[in-house]
Amino acid sequence: MSDLSSHIRTVPDFPKTGIGFKDITTLLKDGNALRQSVDELAEKFSGKEIEKIVGIEARGFIFGTALAYKWNVGFVPVRKPGKLPAETITQEYELEYGTDKVEIHKDAISPGDKILIIDDLLATGGTAAATVELVKELGGDIQGIGFLIELTFLNGRQRLGNYEVISLIEYDSE
Ligand code: AMP
Repeated sequence: MSDLSSHIRTVPDFPKTGIGFKDITTLLKDGNALRQSVDELAEKFSGKEIEKIVGIEARGFIFGTALAYKWNVGFVPVRKPGKLPAETITQEYELEYGTDKVEIHKDAISPGDKILIIDDLLATGGTAAATVELVKELGGDIQGIGFLIELTFLNGRQRLGNYEVISLIEYDSE
């Protein structure tokens, strides 16, 4: 078992000045660290009966799919606008400057499906909160929200209501 945070590279001023970008490619290229990340996420939610994993584009696909394979459950992508080919629903959310949108296929979730939402990183929580709204609109029963990394100084968790939110690595400053 290694310290997962030692596999994360912080790239200063990417994609713009003042942002310390948490680069997970340095973790992904290490087989043991990748496996440990997926296993630790699985362990944190081992008490839940998850039926589908909703992964957020793009890095949420990596951990979400690995977890879905491990648990033998389905995977549902939440994507940026215009990427999903069939009928979708859309949720808009605020960015620092302007707004963005996420979409999900309308038939991806059935009412009552027990859902775990996965992304690589929780920052302000806007993307995850918008995803929560999409899953709720389709009647999904959210069992939890999991992240590899949480930037605690941005208080993103506050936007995620009372759901069980877990992260494996916390940063309390840039
Ligand atoms: P937010 O909606 O602010 O919680 O941002 C979350 C999304 O933006 C995630 O999908 C992350 O991949 C990405 N993101 C935000 N901040 C960072 C950061 N400092 N380093 C890497 N990815 C980030």
